[in-house]
Amino acid sequence: MQSIASWGRLQASPHQVSYLHDRDRIPRDIGGLAPGLAHGMGRSYGDVCLNPGGSLWITTGLDKFIDFDPNTGLLSCEAGVLLRDIQRLAIPRGWILPVTPGTQLVTLGGAIANDVHGKNHHVSGTFGDHLRRLRLVRTDGSVIDCGPDLESGWFAATLGGMGLTGVITEAVLQLKRVSGPWLETETLAYRGLDEFFELADGSEADWEHTVSWIDCLSSNPARGPFMRANPSDHDSGSATGGRQWSMPFVPPVSLVNRLSLRPFNAAYFRIKKARAGRGLTHYEPFFYPLDGLLNWNRMYGPNGFYQYQAVLPRAGGADAISSMLTEISRSGEGSFLAVLKTFADRPAPGMLSFAMPGVTLALDLPNRGSRTLRLFDRLDAIVREAEGRLYPAKDARMPRDLFETGYPGLADFLPYRDPGISAAMSRRLMGT
Ligand SMILES: Cc1cc2nc3c(=O)[nH]c(=O)nc-3n(C[C@H](O)[C@H](O)[C@H](O)COP(=O)(O)OP(=O)(O)OC[C@H]3O[C@@H](n4cnc5c(N)ncnc54)[C@H](O)[C@@H]3O)c2cc1C
Repeated sequence: MQSIASWGRLQASPHQVSYLHDRDRIPRDIGGLAPGLAHGMGRSYGDVCLNPGGSLWITTGLDKFIDFDPNTGLLSCEAGVLLRDIQRLAIPRGWILPVTPGTQLVTLGGAIANDVHGKNHHVSGTFGDHLRRLRLVRTDGSVIDCGPDLESGWFAATLGGMGLTGVITEAVLQLKRVSGPWLETETLAYRGLDEFFELADGSEADWEHTVSWIDCLSSNPARGPFMRANPSDHDSGSATGGRQWSMPFVPPVSLVNRLSLRPFNAAYFRIKKARAGRGLTHYEPFFYPLDGLLNWNRMYGPNGFYQYQAVLPRAGGADAISSMLTEISRSGEGSFLAVLKTFADRPAPGMLSFAMPGVTLALDLPNRGSRTLRLFDRLDAIVREAEGRLYPAKDARMPRDLFETGYPGLADFLPYRDPGISAAMSRRLMGT
């Protein structure tokens, strides 16, 4: 048994760990070990990637590229390949991931199983929109190839299916044309949610990537930097994304607290405001700002932290976000870098995909036990009332009723579950 924690480091629990390397052997490798669960880089914050007391099949050894056609941008690779390695292979050859989350240190299988979104939902939808095929191995030894036009039920269940339909062993992905690693960027300061929505809506037609950070500690109105970007054909030689640092140890107490956050957020807002304007930015610091500090999750100390990410429908979304910000400010809990973003009006490809038309707010909060949980209960009430949903990739505690009302595709999904696969989250939210 080995102790494994997820990115939020809320608790480490014992798992029977085995490592998958040879994709042809997987039907045999996972058969005798059930109930188990695939585990990529463990970059999910809560319990979707954990199976305490059961088996965990680590997929990072499935790291081989299988085929790449530089004329069409079709890439076929194993499910443990990191998005970082896809970017590094593809960008110099004129192709890029069409959708990428805020860290590139995740596996292809993890990106599929959470049907992740990026900063360009209004242009490119979610990760699953660009998959052509995936191969699923079930614990009964069966192998299912599926795609949008083949076994489409299996495909839609597996996109955002949290690894519960089987182990994804390989996939074929359509990459997107790009001239190079650079982006034309613009940073603007906004004050108030009205200004945020004006910027977000006004940027959709002309900007491929949009995102904003929000200072949860400032007194009303909400403020923050709004960033937008387009691919650039600028050729700046062989520059990379810059130096990587690492948080070397877990401090005895969280370094993220109200005392440290207020000056940090204020300074950050001032810097961004001073630098507001246009620039040329390498894709790594723009897409993956937190990857520059490896193990940054250790900053929260031994008790770890929660991420709370909700999406609210656009009608009523602004009021709901405003109420959530008021609750957070009233609670005295600070969030280090909260992210606010809009999702466009396009259907998601997975039965349990998180993205839906609306606005999404993501907050990182230090784990202060019942105090933090009570705040989440109040935020849940706002999300429920606004008919929103929470993101399983970030969750460790959402109540079952909120999951059931937030995900109307659940009943369609359940028949596709592999009975030999279980997670702490599936037991909490689906009973098994
Ligand atoms: C700094 C940071 C920024 C982030 N930004 C975003 C963002 O912008 N947008 C977004 O959508 N998400 C974001 N995330 C969340 C992250 O993209 C997802 O949690 C992702 O799924 C993690 O991939 P992983 O390889 O670490 O998988 P894990 O966390 O190890 O596993 C995630 C899920 O995938 C399943 N899984 C993994 N591999 C396989 C496989 N081969 N077959 C079947 N199931 C499998 C697991 O069972 C589990 O259910 C962010 C996370 C961090 C830490």
